[in-house]
Amino acid sequence: MKGLNEFDRIPLALLPTPLHKLENISRILGTNVWIKRDDLTGIGLGGNKVRKLEFLLADAKKKGAEIIFTTGGAQSNHAMLTAACVKKLGMTPILILKKRGVTDRKGNQLLEYLMDTDVRFMDTDSYDDIYAEMDRVGMESGKPYYKIPCGGSNAIGALGYIACMKEIADSGIHFDHVICAEGSGGTHAGVALGAKLYMPETKTMGMMVDDDPFDLITSGIMREAAQLLELDMDITPADVHLLNMCGPGYAIASEEGNAAIRMMAENEGLFLDPVYTGKAFAGLIRLAKEGAFKPTDNVLFLYSGGAGGLFAVDIDLD
Ligand SMILES: *Cc1c(COP(=O)(O)O)cnc(C)c1O
Repeated sequence: MKGLNEFDRIPLALLPTPLHKLENISRILGTNVWIKRDDLTGIGLGGNKVRKLEFLLADAKKKGAEIIFTTGGAQSNHAMLTAACVKKLGMTPILILKKRGVTDRKGNQLLEYLMDTDVRFMDTDSYDDIYAEMDRVGMESGKPYYKIPCGGSNAIGALGYIACMKEIADSGIHFDHVICAEGSGGTHAGVALGAKLYMPETKTMGMMVDDDPFDLITSGIMREAAQLLELDMDITPADVHLLNMCGPGYAIASEEGNAAIRMMAENEGLFLDPVYTGKAFAGLIRLAKEGAFKPTDNVLFLYSGGAGGLFAVDIDLD
């Protein structure tokens, strides 16, 4: 295996992020619920994308890029964090976003405005259209450019979460389960592959917040990341464990997600978001209520950020 430290990486996140138990929620759910504070990665409003960007932007720098493109929905946390990290490193971000979701100057759109970011919207449902537009704009600029896929979800980005799993293993605490939100697959791919490497007894699960075929997507990213790491490992869609928590649709708040946001806020003073972490934590609550965890289990929730989205979407708790 190639070591993680053999890959180019630009330190952007404040690591290790804190890891602590949620005492009140553990009591309510009857198992030991822990939280990995990747909402505190230390740039923008924090979030999981910073770990991926450490590897992706190092790759971009090495290749001499001056312009960094990425994409997502209008309220993409990933796009906002990419803009923040790219600006900090003295390159130019251009965000070509799907004209889907809240496009007015709220939430992440406000943050991008504050950073004076070049944000463009495309009225399309196809990321292929957007990647083609990136090439058009990039070629026209005459400058070297680098395209980061939606969510930073490719093998290089997933290295960030393989490294995160090593960080968790290094805590010395044994976790029976690690649970994360799944929106484009890179985080879960890193978590699942990282568990195979550093925490082989640990079960991982992605809580789907969109309706894509995540068994194929996630195992595909895992396989490519395993190749990067020169691992001799068979990976199939059966290695990917999922629960569909999407509810009414991507980026549309769900009742179960809202109840989870309320539970976390009321008992622990932490604010989950309606698009990712609220729905993901609702999945953890559902599993706990179904008896999936033993009272002695340690269940780790990856709190992947998303604060920007909390101020863009209407949440109705009544
Ligand atoms: C992007 C995102 C996720 C999902 O990560 P993917 O790697 O895209 O699956 C989870 N939580 C938050 C807050 C995010 O912004």
